[in-house]
Amino acid sequence: MNKKKAVNSFLEHVEHIRRLPLITDPEMHQLFGEEITTAVAEIDRFNQKEQICLRCQNRCCPVCGCELYAPEFDQCPIYEFRPVLCRLHFCHQFNTAGRSVIIELGDIFFESLQAAEQAGSTKVRLFESPPLARYAPDLVETTAPWVDAVRKGSLNPEHARKLICTEAEKYLTPDTLGTAIEING
Ligand code: SF4
Ligand code: SF4
Repeated sequence: MNKKKAVNSFLEHVEHIRRLPLITDPEMHQLFGEEITTAVAEIDRFNQKEQICLRCQNRCCPVCGCELYAPEFDQCPIYEFRPVLCRLHFCHQFNTAGRSVIIELGDIFFESLQAAEQAGSTKVRLFESPPLARYAPDLVETTAPWVDAVRKGSLNPEHARKLICTEAEKYLTPDTLGTAIEING
């Protein structure tokens, strides 16, 4: 993969992605370029075919403290909008999909963040999500009752997923967030 091209693309576009820490497929494409999104799509296809995450007994979502996770969901409730970290995290169970590609993707992500931070981007920390509460507090506050109800068995997971996705679709990074991140450190 052309690492330099991907990092330059990241630097060029990071300030224009308006829903971070959430992101869509087209925005991923805009952010990292064709080669990276093609590589990720290939691993995702492998995941769908082998049902690796679906069958996983030790999911990374609760481990990282994601507020939207409930074991009752059969996939991420904001799959179409899941953060970059979720899209580029492939644990050892993906080794057969191509460990060297996975390592390269991790390197590109790390180097992109490093370069953006050096360039003075205030958006770099948004890529630390999940968890989501620090950088998307309104989204977590609105969706928390639905996730809780799913966990308790009082709300149908598919219905909850649609409600949560509608909120994710409307979500935009608050204009003041960059300033808040700088002040809070
Ligand atoms: S990335 Fe690995 S740990 Fe996370 S859900 Fe998928 S298989 Fe499980
Ligand atoms: S947002 Fe990420 S961590 Fe949270 S449930 Fe979705 S894939 Fe898992």
